[in-house]
Amino acid sequence: MKSTDRTYAVSKTDEQWRAELSPAEYDVLRRAGTERPFVGKYTDTTTEGVYACRACGAELFTSDTKFESHCGWPSFYSPLAGDTVEYIEDNSLGMKRVEVRCATCGSHLGHVFEGEGYDTPTDQRYCINSISLTLRPKADA
Ligand SMILES: [Zn+2]
Repeated sequence: MKSTDRTYAVSKTDEQWRAELSPAEYDVLRRAGTERPFVGKYTDTTTEGVYACRACGAELFTSDTKFESHCGWPSFYSPLAGDTVEYIEDNSLGMKRVEVRCATCGSHLGHVFEGEGYDTPTDQRYCINSISLTLRPKADA
């Protein structure tokens, strides 16, 4: 994973992350791995609530901006707020992509794509690994 100069509010050593996360979580969150499509826990979830970073618990996305992209991963058209995530240019795999990381702990979440023609307010698709997220369902009123 490309390192940045940024200092994160939640900062842990690699050993700490390895101890706290499951091997599969570690691989995606701390090694920028990608979950296989259509197997993630939240791919088709429509439960209302807030999606938090699985590594540090920062709130990142809400179910209000989740949409059916049929791409095989949970997709959102916008983050919870502009500064909850950070963007890093990713030229791996011979493609120019924009990586999305948690702005609080720097963990890998997924990628954001633009201008694909989805019928959403932003025409952006935040393609996020389920394993990077924890859904906090909205409490019943
Ligand atoms: Zn985080």
